[in-house]
Amino acid sequence: MKRWVKWSALAVPVVAIGYVWIGVDVRPHVEYVPEEVVEEVDSTLLPPDVYGIPMSGFTLVEGKVKPGATFGDLLAEHGVPMTTVHALVDEAAPQFDVRRLRSGHPYAFIFPADSAHKPSYFVYEADRVEYVVFGLQDGELSVRTGKRPVKTTEHQIACTVTGALYNDLARAGADPALAMHLAEVFAWTVDFYRIQKNDVFTVVYSEETVDGHRHGSPRILAARYNSGGRIKEAFRFGEGKAVQYYDAEGNSQRKAFLKAPLKFSRISSGFSGRRLHPVQKVMKAHLGTDYAAPYGTPILAVGDGVVEKAGRTGGNGNFVKIRHNGTYSTQYLHMRKILVRQGQRVSQGDVIGEVGSTGLATGPHVCFRFWKNGVQVDHRKEEFPSAEPVAKEQRASFDRLRDSLGTKLDEAELALAQGRLVNF
Ligand SMILES: [Zn+2]
Repeated sequence: MKRWVKWSALAVPVVAIGYVWIGVDVRPHVEYVPEEVVEEVDSTLLPPDVYGIPMSGFTLVEGKVKPGATFGDLLAEHGVPMTTVHALVDEAAPQFDVRRLRSGHPYAFIFPADSAHKPSYFVYEADRVEYVVFGLQDGELSVRTGKRPVKTTEHQIACTVTGALYNDLARAGADPALAMHLAEVFAWTVDFYRIQKNDVFTVVYSEETVDGHRHGSPRILAARYNSGGRIKEAFRFGEGKAVQYYDAEGNSQRKAFLKAPLKFSRISSGFSGRRLHPVQKVMKAHLGTDYAAPYGTPILAVGDGVVEKAGRTGGNGNFVKIRHNGTYSTQYLHMRKILVRQGQRVSQGDVIGEVGSTGLATGPHVCFRFWKNGVQVDHRKEEFPSAEPVAKEQRASFDRLRDSLGTKLDEAELALAQGRLVNF
């Protein structure tokens, strides 16, 4: 049931109001919410084919898995002998673990028209797309999975920010999950903490539907952010793992980090779970990398961002912490002098302080700390997004794609200006 796993991972996130504003990189997700199915309804007017089973000569009884109900309970309740249940569990094992039955998910029993006591099939809906059909006929127990067709459609929408982007998108008729995806696409170029009222987001995106219901996550093909005439654009281009978002000139949306916060230095202590603390002389984790350099050496911001903290604590001494985007932050400790203020915007390579030995330090160095989604990681082991532009040989096809998507963005923007919706 690979499909199920995939579904869970991509499950449509319900983004809390203001989610994007607080920039937390945790994605809440909701269980698959099945359509309302009337409990235990005998249906006589059935389509000719249900779950790939020709229905002539059969009747269908539908229901939803009750909380706490097991596969065995359900089948026993509908007249399937326990010996058959056990045999089915084994039969199903390679494809479907029957312990994964979830409450609230729809199921169906299919009975021969001439017997209301002995079902021929049991069908369980694992999600909107995939279902599992258990054949219950004597001597020919079987298990197979089936899929409903998934339809992909393209949409374009322009949306004026009035409050939380999530709500504005929902009001405009788009999948509000786009808010989170926009924050990812523009993570390096737009500060989502500083979005203003009347800014406009325009998006061309594709989404999948199953039986007319949204399925999975929307995919942004192109996006434009207009903040008082300052425009940022992103176009999705590439294949497989190489897919990236580029600006109109074909430059990557992503920005690399400098490898170190000092131009010339040596690493005096690496990142580790445990080390002997040079001052406290006890074993402690060292969740940073120390770069030793003479007093006064300029300390550089490794990437664009906003100074989140600039201050002093006993252990850290004078320090600066920079938030680069919703995912990454960096911190620089033991400064002799801090050269930035809290709230200040900095660019990659800006001097933010001078090397010192304030706080718990034996000699002049910067203790450089790198945070990813709120957790300190060894930045030298991280794989950062490539910031390479579109390759020369792909430039022509990128330009064609950008032009066609750009036209769609223009259309959506024009429609917003004229107060109508396109493609909805
Ligand atoms: Zn350190």
